[in-house]
Amino acid sequence: VNTMKQSLLATLNQEQQNAVMTDSQHTLVLAGAGSGKTRVLVHRIAWLCLEKRYAANSIFAVTFTNKAAAEMQERIESLIGEAYLNGMWVGTFHGLAHRLLRIFAKQAGLPTNFQLIDSDDQNRLIKRIFKERKIDEKQWSSKECAAFISTQKENGLRAKDIALTDPKSIMWQKIYTDYQAICDRVGYVDFSEIILRTYELLARDTEVLDYCHQRFTNILVDEFQDTNYIQYELVKLLAGQSANIMIVGDDDQSIYSWRGANADNLQLFINDHPDTEIIRLEQNYRSTGNILAVANKLITHNQQRLGKNLWTESDQGEQIAVYVAFNDIDEARFVIGKIKKLHEEGNNYRDCAILYRNNVQSRLLEDTLLQSAIPYQIYGSIRFYERQEVKLALAYLRLLHDSNNDNAFELIINTPTRGIGEVTLSKIRQFARTEHISMWQATRQVINTKAMAARQCSGLARFIELIESIHQEVDTLPFYQQLERIIKVSGIYEMYEQEAGIKGQSRLENLDELVSAAQQFHQTYTKENPSNELIDLENSSTLSVLESFLAYTSLEGKETKKQSDSVQLMTLHSAKGLEFEHVFIVGLEEGLFPAQRSITDQHKLEEERRLAYVGITRARKNLTLTLSELRRLYGKEERNLPSRFLSELPEGLLQDLSYRAGANLAKPQAKQSYQFDDEAPDQAFIEERKASFIKHQVENQGYTLGRKVMHKRFGEGTIIHLDGEGEHRRVQIAFVNEGIKWLVIKLANLTLL
Ligand code: ATP
Ligand code: MG
Repeated sequence: VNTMKQSLLATLNQEQQNAVMTDSQHTLVLAGAGSGKTRVLVHRIAWLCLEKRYAANSIFAVTFTNKAAAEMQERIESLIGEAYLNGMWVGTFHGLAHRLLRIFAKQAGLPTNFQLIDSDDQNRLIKRIFKERKIDEKQWSSKECAAFISTQKENGLRAKDIALTDPKSIMWQKIYTDYQAICDRVGYVDFSEIILRTYELLARDTEVLDYCHQRFTNILVDEFQDTNYIQYELVKLLAGQSANIMIVGDDDQSIYSWRGANADNLQLFINDHPDTEIIRLEQNYRSTGNILAVANKLITHNQQRLGKNLWTESDQGEQIAVYVAFNDIDEARFVIGKIKKLHEEGNNYRDCAILYRNNVQSRLLEDTLLQSAIPYQIYGSIRFYERQEVKLALAYLRLLHDSNNDNAFELIINTPTRGIGEVTLSKIRQFARTEHISMWQATRQVINTKAMAARQCSGLARFIELIESIHQEVDTLPFYQQLERIIKVSGIYEMYEQEAGIKGQSRLENLDELVSAAQQFHQTYTKENPSNELIDLENSSTLSVLESFLAYTSLEGKETKKQSDSVQLMTLHSAKGLEFEHVFIVGLEEGLFPAQRSITDQHKLEEERRLAYVGITRARKNLTLTLSELRRLYGKEERNLPSRFLSELPEGLLQDLSYRAGANLAKPQAKQSYQFDDEAPDQAFIEERKASFIKHQVENQGYTLGRKVMHKRFGEGTIIHLDGEGEHRRVQIAFVNEGIKWLVIKLANLTLL
């Protein structure tokens, strides 16, 4: 045991050890990026289990993303062994609260088969209410209304609790009332509802609360600076008087205030628990000296800080590379060129990350990566389970198992097309509403009573028959095999097969991926069998594996196909907590980063700066910052100024790699009115660049991604990759009958279709 204890502590410094071993009931670890906060949390959990002999199921550990939760679980497992993990709750606020709701659905006033809905479903519902209330959709935005409802819920407010101020919020309040009434009636739970419901459940039901108090005696929360009001209250309630709480956080990394998060919660925690032991970690183990110096300097420009020290024993390392691109294409090429070089020098693709402010920025980077045939992986753009094709397949599965699920019904009734029009549908909707039955039931009745014209009825009947025949065929199969059959039999596979180019191809891949995700889920589920732990609970609803999977798909951001070695692309927000050897932050321009709407607002500007701090501190070895003088975004070409954040970095540590080496990039603020004419790049250079672009275009003429081609022997195919230059230029083609092949253009004798 002693050696176990020693090995647990061996890789920690003195302060980290103090945090891991503390006997204080309330502990706050307040420390900067890369100082080992998450590491402390993981070791603390191991310590509690091994040394303090707490049962694994006493642990309730909250992380910020599912990816972080999975990583944490892995790290705990490697410290204490798989056997100990049983019954430990590690997940996001949403994931863990959802788990509680599943167990205590009845007590929470929810049907046992309640369903999570995403922002799309939410929007559709609100639009429906707009229609019923005859609200003009052009004048009032359903998205804004959805945001309003979420904000209220994040602040713990029901419609009746809202203090009304202006006509707009009076309107939103009414819709909130309607919206919640529908959700409660049908058993829909949206994301913010998960947390609020759980909070209300614990606040109201003393039996459930007692159960939680007895069970969860150790609560740990990572990234505490990004909790919002209701999450804070939930932790407080869950912990009660006697649980041990350890929270870790960094006020300089608070980047979600736009979603209601409040870094003041760190201070609030200390006020609520005056006995809180505060532990500071000051040694950074992640980054080189230069990277840390740059991060430290940048963040001093914020006024609102608790203030922290951060130092490292590491070498200075390389300078921070800065590249001012001619335009965004040039920027993408520069970044990807550099990654290519890193790879040639023996680095892994997976150790390279490209971070950007907005999701839209990823497209050009993706194109460029595709053209260079470099594998990449995107985090957090459209979440895997929110992709059209995936939602569609899951909707079939849902309807098969719950024919009264109207959401699923609406999604698939006419996809693929079966000639069922909007008029027919709205009649069915109407009929279902007046009879208080589901759309499935309404459809059956319509067919039985021949309440509609024969032509309309026949489309509907075909749909009903299809679903029923699939049901018969797959009923006894494990659900992942059901999914596999559904995808084929329902016609969605065929539908996407006909969709041209790389898009259709990737949709088919996603469908395959869905099946393997389901299979994987099935395996872990039967292995862990979490329902075991629920059996002893009174009134517990045992989750079926399918139900759990469906819930999982609504909560988790399952990423697209795991490439073993691929470049990592993500927004700065989703990079929080992660680390990479080589980090590229692109688009450092005024109006983009910092974002336009933050420029005139001190608080928002400071949040953008914290976001930059988060980005910079992700880098272990080297950091590259890029911007572009010309950028095409949302169909408009814009000239942006260098981001003020660049001018806030220590000039001596930056290395300007751009063609205007030594350009005045480090001091854009010194110029009161940014005069672009003075700084315009030299004309000859622009011409040269243009010429090289044109040359490139000509070389590629016709050979573009998604283009259909004909080959004498292999027949028809679609270009899915391009690579190389000049006579070495080659294309990867997905042939209709011959599979996927690489061909050199010069030799292949292809015909463009
Ligand atoms: P962030 O604020 O970005 O979430 P963090 O404070 O949670 O960062 P960690 O991710 O826990 O920091 O640690 C950063 C890196 O430093 C990790 O690679 C971790 O393994 C390493 N590390 C932390 N403490 C030590 C230590 N005492 N000795 C060696 N490496 C350490
Ligand atoms: Mg961390």
